[in-house]
Amino acid sequence: MDIYSGHINKLIEQLSRLPGVGAKSAQRLAFHIINMPQEEVDGLTNAITSAKANVRYCKECFTLTDEEICPICANKARDHSTIMVVEHTRDMAAYEKTGKYNGVYHVLNGLINIQKGILPENLNIQSLVNRINDDIEEVIIATDPTVEGETTALYITKLLDGRTKVTRLAHGIPMGGHLDYTDAHTLLKAFEGRK
Ligand code: ZN
Repeated sequence: MDIYSGHINKLIEQLSRLPGVGAKSAQRLAFHIINMPQEEVDGLTNAITSAKANVRYCKECFTLTDEEICPICANKARDHSTIMVVEHTRDMAAYEKTGKYNGVYHVLNGLINIQKGILPENLNIQSLVNRINDDIEEVIIATDPTVEGETTALYITKLLDGRTKVTRLAHGIPMGGHLDYTDAHTLLKAFEGRK
């Protein structure tokens, strides 16, 4: 890497820290950025800085939002008695795209993974328990059908046992598949077949 200037090396190094960006992609991106018009580079850096400064977790459901309470939790027309539990904000976005779910969400921000040291207390699970009261009629667990997704679903189901009705999204989603890559039709079928 010594053939490049120190500034380019620094940029490549930073980019290669991003998930899914290998050394080669980082180089390609770095040279692309260098060749971009100044205003586009400014637009990109401003978007990163202001997103980091202004985006936070919703106090209610823990999705990423610009407000204290996200638009879905703040929407009185939504069914606040049904909570769908998802791994990430992007999974919630996948359900919103179907336009068929009118309840609210709870974003765990990860899944239980003992090997990686991710325990229930590292996730937004206690805050889910705190949301359960007599007004909550159903909690739908919509984590991916992976080992971690099933473990997390089982853990939450046991935790909420006797406190409210808990359903698991049926597996229209392929084993090991990720919710955010699944098309709307599969999601809908999974949603209708929950048990
Ligand atoms: Zn919210």
